[in-house]
Amino acid sequence: MSVQLGMPQPRAEDGSGAGTSAAQVPGRPAGMPAGLVDRYGRRATDMRLSLTDKCNLRCTYCMPAEGLEWLSKQAVMSAEEIVRIVRIGVDMLGVRELRLTGGEPLVRADLMDIISALRHAHPDLPISMTTNAVGLDKKAAGLKAAGLSRINVSLDSLHEETFTQLTRRPFLNKVLAGVDAAWAAGLGPVKLNAVLMRGINDVESPPCWLGRWTAATSCASSSRCRSTPTTAGPAGT
Ligand code: SF4
Repeated sequence: MSVQLGMPQPRAEDGSGAGTSAAQVPGRPAGMPAGLVDRYGRRATDMRLSLTDKCNLRCTYCMPAEGLEWLSKQAVMSAEEIVRIVRIGVDMLGVRELRLTGGEPLVRADLMDIISALRHAHPDLPISMTTNAVGLDKKAAGLKAAGLSRINVSLDSLHEETFTQLTRRPFLNKVLAGVDAAWAAGLGPVKLNAVLMRGINDVESPPCWLGRWTAATSCASSSRCRSTPTTAGPAGT
């Protein structure tokens, strides 16, 4: 048995292009729009781009304590290649929003240059970044100045012990400092993403932990933070 995934395929206005043609997919309406269109005619307009496989945390659901065998430099897209692929997405495939992710994008040395170049090429493109926020306190203002629009922070626990157990690093205070710095720099709304795990951090699920925290930091009323809890499978930041 074969399973056909509904991955978006590049397609021209007349329905031609890479992948299965419109005529080959039963039920596909004629006259597909240009861009990345899946077999049901849905158009993808978000591009998610991983800048690195490296990370400074070792979340138990993501990688082993000793880390992974990292990709060679040659195997990772250069800044020029990133700018080029985003340009292709925006100019030719209808991409209207960009999400930068990792690994942990903050560990990439040329991150500011990449964001500056992307912003220069696409002045109106919303560019967000998903991060674990370690080190963000020192970089948030620079990221904003470079052209980043907003930040998503992966944060699974506000309990120091649970955080350290989950990430194998005692960095909760660094993460919270990063969230504050992102907000102060104007990278809002700062969204928090949490992977809820039964018996580990599910007691912290909203409205309990986030409700208490946002009340304590006055951000619930100022739309500083919006929780996006997920029970979906783990993924890199
Ligand atoms: S889940 Fe994210 S923060 Fe955690 S180790 Fe993986 S990439 Fe790093």
